[in-house]
This record gives sequence, C-alpha cells and structure tokens, in this order.
Amino acid sequence: MAETIKVNSPNVVYTPEYIEAKYTYHTTQVACDSGCYVVTPRSTEFVFRTERRVPRLGVMLVGWGGNNGSTVTASVIANYLGLTWPTKEGMKEANYLGSLMQSSVVSLGTGEEGDVYVPFRNLLPMVHPNDIVFDGWDISSMDLASAMERACVLDWGLQQQLKPHMAAMRPRPSIYRPDFIAANQFDRADNVLTGTAAQQLEQLRCDIRDFRSKSDVDKVILLWTANTERFALLQPGVSDTADNLLRAIQHDEKEISPSTLFAVASILEGCPYINGSPQNTFVPGLVELAIRHDVPLAGDDFKSGQTKLKSVLVDYLISAGLKPVSIVSYNHLGNNDGKNLSSTKQFNSKEISKSSVVNDMVSSNRIMFRPGEHPDHCIVIKYVPYVGDSKRAMDEYTSEIMMGGHNTIVIHNTCEDSLLASPLILDLVILAELCTRIKLRAIGTNEEFEPFHPVLSILAYLCKAPMVPQGAPVVNALFSQRACIENIMKACLGLQPQNNMQLEHKML
Ligand code: NAD
Repeated sequence: MAETIKVNSPNVVYTPEYIEAKYTYHTTQVACDSGCYVVTPRSTEFVFRTERRVPRLGVMLVGWGGNNGSTVTASVIANYLGLTWPTKEGMKEANYLGSLMQSSVVSLGTGEEGDVYVPFRNLLPMVHPNDIVFDGWDISSMDLASAMERACVLDWGLQQQLKPHMAAMRPRPSIYRPDFIAANQFDRADNVLTGTAAQQLEQLRCDIRDFRSKSDVDKVILLWTANTERFALLQPGVSDTADNLLRAIQHDEKEISPSTLFAVASILEGCPYINGSPQNTFVPGLVELAIRHDVPLAGDDFKSGQTKLKSVLVDYLISAGLKPVSIVSYNHLGNNDGKNLSSTKQFNSKEISKSSVVNDMVSSNRIMFRPGEHPDHCIVIKYVPYVGDSKRAMDEYTSEIMMGGHNTIVIHNTCEDSLLASPLILDLVILAELCTRIKLRAIGTNEEFEPFHPVLSILAYLCKAPMVPQGAPVVNALFSQRACIENIMKACLGLQPQNNMQLEHKML
C-alpha cells in the first residue's frame, strides 16, 4: 500500500510549506413560498490551505493517573516500542484499534482493481500517536507505572514491560475542590495545589510553560480526562462573560470549577483545550475568552461505547422509517469513574450528556414526530466494583412498526471502558492539532485566510454532547459526523465528497 497521496489537479498546489486547494462548496438553499419549497442550488469557491510541517506535539492530561490517562500513556509507549506480550489466548501485539485516524480507512477513488482505500491518517500530514509526549496533572500523586497497575486494564505481562518506562512519570499537583467531584474521591487527593483560584491558575500556566520548555514540544494541547464534575451554577457576573470570569477568578469565586480554571489556563497559554467529561466546563465566559484569543475548544464527553452505538442505531431506525418510542440504557461498571458517578450530582452531569444524543435525528423527521414529541429515554448507571473497568451496557430500543406492531431490540455490550476511550483521546488531540494548521478563505469574500471557528465542532464524532458554535446545528448521527471529518479533509486536497452514486457501474 502506498503511504503518500499526491493530487493531480490544477486546483491543488503543493509548496514546501503548504497544500493549497481550490474547492467548490455546494449547498442548497430552501425557502418556503405559498406552501411550496423553493430550492436553490448554490456554490461557493474556497481555498483551503494546510500547513505541511507536522509539529512535535505535547499533550497534558488532567487526570493523568486515572484509568484513561494511564492506559493511553501506556498504549502509546507500547506501540512506540513495538511491544508484544503473552496471554492465555496467545501472543498479543500493541496496536491502535478503535482509532479513527490510525485504524480506519477512506476511499480515495477508483484504481485499476476497483476502489482504493487509504488509512484516514494518510489524507493529510498529521501527528503520529507514537510521537506524542505526555505530561499532566492528577490529585493523586501515584506515578504512572503504579497508576497503570491500579487501573487493572492492561495485561500483566505488558505492564511488567512498561513499568520501567512509566515509573518516573509523576502527575503535577492539581486543583481539588471537593464539592465538584464525589465525596468518595477524597482518599486519593494527596497531590493538591493550595492557594487562591488566581494563584492556582498561575501555577497551571507555569506548568504548561515548564512542560513546553523541558520537553521541547512545538505545540501543547490540554485534555480533561479527570473525574466528572457536577455542573457549575451559571451565575450572572461570574461566568457569563470573559471579563467577569477573569475577575471572578481574581476574587476567588467558589463556583468556578477546576475544569474551567484548567481551560482558562490553557486558553491564556494559547493551547487548545478538550473536555472528555460531561460537565459544563465551557461556561459562556470561557467560550468568549477562547474566541477572543482564537484558541480551539472541543467537547464534551468522549463518545466511546453505548452512546456511539445509540447514535448509529437511532439514525438507522429513523432513516429506515421506523419510529423509536422508548430507549432504556442501563450500565454498570466498577472502576473509579463508576465510583464517582455513583454520586447523584456527578451522575446528573452524565445523564444530561447521554440524553441529548438522539435529538437531531428525532427532530429531523416530522412524519413520525410532532414538534416537541420525543421517545421516552431513560439512563441508569450503577457502580459494581467487581467488574472493574469492564463496563456492561444493556440497551432496549422499542420502535413502532407498521400497523400498530412493535419491534424491540436488546443489546448487551461488555468491554474495557478505558481501551475504548484511549484511542478517542489520541484522535481528539491529533485532529485538534491538524485543525490548527488548516485555514480557508472564500474567494471574492475573504482576502485573508481564516482558521476554523474556535469551537471545533469538527470533532463531534468523538463527543457525546458535541459543542458547536452558537446558532450552529448539533449533529449526533455518527456517520454524518464521520463524513464531516472525511469531507473536510478531502476538501483540503480539492477532492469532492464520496457521493456513492457509482454511475459508471449503472449504465450499459
Ligand atoms: P478515573 O477515575 O480512573 O480517572 C480520573 C482521574 O482524575 C483520577 O486519577 C483522579 O484522581 C483524577 N482527578 C479527579 N479530579 C481531578 C482534578 N481536579 N485534577 C486532576 N485530576 C483529577 O476515570 P476514567 O475512567 O479515566 O475516566 C475519566 C473521565 O472520562 C471521567 O469523567 C469519565 O466519565 C470520562 N469518560 C470516560 C469514558 C470511557 O469510556 N472510559 C467515556 C466517556 C467519558
């Protein structure tokens, strides 16, 4: 399989610094006039400019010593070293299964022997996960080798090989505000910053600069994979505007969550910030701050297992003309995430993030759903320590079918939660980094190239509750989200989206 791609078109120019592609963006405008939809095709000429130099990327994880943090760090080292290890089922080797960029393919076009597929990562120059340098914070002081052991995720034979590479990795002290996470996390909080919110913010900024200089990375991205926090109260004068937020930090306002403080530090240091948990880190003032500083944000909450399947299954049901009327999702898990979520306020954050996932699909179909009508949607999470990281998800989908009939689908899913989340963490940071190297301009409208909106909705595929720029539609359907990434990356190469028409095979 060839590794590189070169587009042969007068619309695409390769310079030593950039790939510049002229691209015609086709849209369709619809107006309603006297009971008739008037549909007008439109097209806009864009130029996409992608910087070719791939930087050395540093990733700072908040919650580095947790199951996800230790597992993703261990997995990258194992892949970098090409480790293999024995199990009762035979030898295993390190891989990146579950990563959209590393393990899935896209169709590039037609070759002599039919469709030619390439790894997603080969479409544009991007960071390879093996080259990421990790650092981070945790309220638990445990080194990463011991944290990996505590997580009970990876096979023992692999852990033994990784320990020498991880024992010296120690999370930096972090911000602990006990009422934001469950009280049952108190025991592990032995690595915490003291001082006021302003002093803590300053320390986080020093940490980012320290990491940047000591590790010699070109770019740093922060990602929250710490415990789910309760929702912060949105108080006028505190978190409603960027200036109020910065002022409230100086006044040591207690309703500013640790995650929001991390995001402020990240923005002020010019580092993209990604939220892998469901809480409302991105209060209005924070989004305004990110826009003011032109620093990308993405979130919320990794879309790893049950919700990913839900955003496929409900899309299938509704697009097949079947009417989902009841969706009941039950989980039990026994890792520290489950322990934290056994507390009501933290569970509520997760419940909100999990429940909005079918909204766009439901509201798109007015044949089945009247305005405001919605399937019953119930979410239950229980903490069962014995099952550890091996999360159980049981879902029942009931749909109405023709002539009063019913169709009930029941799904039981068991898998290691952190092994689903780790490749998502890699995709999130790699795509966020790539997005900082893409700029575009509409020919005839913009003279200057512009970056993407700081609210990076392109990463929605990886998020349970995708944040979008104000007024933009939220898309939850998984394959639409995937197509968004694929088509934007293809546009950067001047290539049209996959249209699936295959006309060349449909004529005599
Ligand atoms: P975990 O409990 O194993 O790890 C979280 C870590 O965060 C712990 O080590 C804890 O000490 C640390 N922590 C808590 N508050 C902190 C703070 N203020 N600063 C720094 N560190 C702090 O949990 P996990 O399984 O790794 O999951 C992490 C997060 O990802 C959770 O919020 C979870 O809901 C979310 N998530 C996970 C998945 C998945 O599939 N694993 C999917 C979606 C979302």
